[in-house]
Amino acid sequence: MTYVVTDNCIKCKFTDCVEVCPVDCFYEGENMLVIHPDECIDCGVCVPECPAEAIFPDSDPAAEPQWLRLNRDYADQWPNITCKKEPMPDADALNGLPGKLADFSTKPGEGD
Ligand code: SF4
Ligand code: SF4
Repeated sequence: MTYVVTDNCIKCKFTDCVEVCPVDCFYEGENMLVIHPDECIDCGVCVPECPAEAIFPDSDPAAEPQWLRLNRDYADQWPNITCKKEPMPDADALNGLPGKLADFSTKPGEGD
């Protein structure tokens, strides 16, 4: 099992999640974070830290197979992120809005 990041993370980067992960398995894209499924130890401590409620166990219906695939694909391509940074400008305004997948960027973030 693993935890996966889903669509409400797009354009967020509150990044509270990365600070609590004991194995540093978050990876940063231009406007979303993902979890590496082979590195996550299923501890669940990141879930209550995410203000966008975007993290789910892969057994949850909210974590559809497409999200597990997306997390795996981009965790292999994007840089690791372990430190909290400033959220994206519209993070609060866009929190919870539907249709965020249309804004997903495949480009890597800066990492740390
Ligand atoms: S706190 Fe949640 S929504 Fe924000 S970057 Fe982390 S996983 Fe994404
Ligand atoms: S469930 Fe635990 S190991 Fe997995 S990403 Fe969240 S904090 Fe990290």
